[in-house]
Amino acid sequence: MPNIAVIGAGVVGAAIAYELSLMSGLTIDLFDAQEPAQGATGAALGILMAVISQKTKGRGWRLREQSLQRYRTLLPELETATGKTIPGDRQGLVKILLEADWSRWQQLQAVRRSQGYPLELWTRPEVEQKLSGWPLGYGPIAGAIYSPWDWQIQPQALTQRLIEAAQQRGVRCHFHQAAHPLPVADSINHCQNIQTNQAKFPTDYVVITAGLGSNLLINPNSDNNESLQLQPVIGQAFLLQLADADNPLKNSPWRSVLTTEDIHLVPLANGQFWLGATVEFPSDCANGEPNVQLRENLWHQAIAYYPFLERAEIINYWSGKRPRPVGESAPVIRPLDGYDNVLLATGHYRNGVLLAPGTAQEVKTWLKAKLA
Ligand SMILES: Cc1cc2nc3c(=O)[nH]c(=O)nc-3n(C[C@H](O)[C@H](O)[C@H](O)COP(=O)(O)OP(=O)(O)OC[C@H]3O[C@@H](n4cnc5c(N)ncnc54)[C@H](O)[C@@H]3O)c2cc1C
Repeated sequence: MPNIAVIGAGVVGAAIAYELSLMSGLTIDLFDAQEPAQGATGAALGILMAVISQKTKGRGWRLREQSLQRYRTLLPELETATGKTIPGDRQGLVKILLEADWSRWQQLQAVRRSQGYPLELWTRPEVEQKLSGWPLGYGPIAGAIYSPWDWQIQPQALTQRLIEAAQQRGVRCHFHQAAHPLPVADSINHCQNIQTNQAKFPTDYVVITAGLGSNLLINPNSDNNESLQLQPVIGQAFLLQLADADNPLKNSPWRSVLTTEDIHLVPLANGQFWLGATVEFPSDCANGEPNVQLRENLWHQAIAYYPFLERAEIINYWSGKRPRPVGESAPVIRPLDGYDNVLLATGHYRNGVLLAPGTAQEVKTWLKAKLA
């Protein structure tokens, strides 16, 4: 029975392990150096921007569409298998438009209509009517675009459910076991074992889904890894609490995610919201630490768009590092150069939650071809 090692149990590795567990005749081992969903996945807001993205063709759209479609079946499948719900917002996303750039959005709307995905364009009066109850003091809003297919899913809960369902289907999980850099069998570049800090596991195929840890797994001794380069791009976000009296959503029929110019507001239960996220390149971050000024800018900009947030209490804030590929497009899904049995499925940068199911489909296709 072929043995598959999946290294990294963030949302991408978990989705792959689960999806492969649906194939018969495989033995699957899922490894993580820590508990699952502690890397970038643990910091993510879980917003799935597919239909509303400007990617309309090629690989960028294919992965998004595969994910969109799979999420429709995956979430109920996982909820049934585990008996637990996966929190999030399945009502759709509202993107507030600050400029009346209608022709760009009308073009996208036409393309999406031909692809079978509705998008609604709202003028400012329509926004005021649809989002009645929301105080619309936030600057010169020109209108909005509503995308019912673009959901939000809580990434840690999703990852946990994927892992639970995968385990039910026989996937063996090895957490708190860091995989060592890939050993190479003499001359043929065929990875035969995964060595962790605890044991050695024989393997036939390896999928590397270790996020920013992927670099180190492939070539630990090189400062300038030629096979793959990933750069950390820090994101910071807030958890906010609004008292009932200050919460415009309390009596509003709309509880969707609101997004404006990279500022995302995610309504949670009990008057809480997530607000994020900064995009901080290494040059923005002294010693690789999150930039306090950029976090404050995010907060002030959010209040400018959504003034009711001024009355919110900041319960918490956090940061995470998005794995951004250098010199190639995100995500990186390709065989590792020089190996005949190792696939990279990493570097998902800003869209790992969105693209996890589509990535899992691609991995399945690769494996089926290998096994054929
Ligand atoms: C603030 C913020 C907001 C975001 N919001 C969104 C969003 O709204 N929508 C969206 O789609 N994306 C979002 N993202 C991006 C998303 O978080 C990432 O693209 C995604 O989590 C990448 O998932 P992953 O599984 O590849 O990596 P990770 O989640 O980083 O998982 C990699 C795992 O590999 C493990 N690992 C590393 N090295 C080893 C080793 N040697 N051995 C064993 N295990 C190892 C790590 O412990 C880790 O658990 C956001 C990111 C941030 C920081």
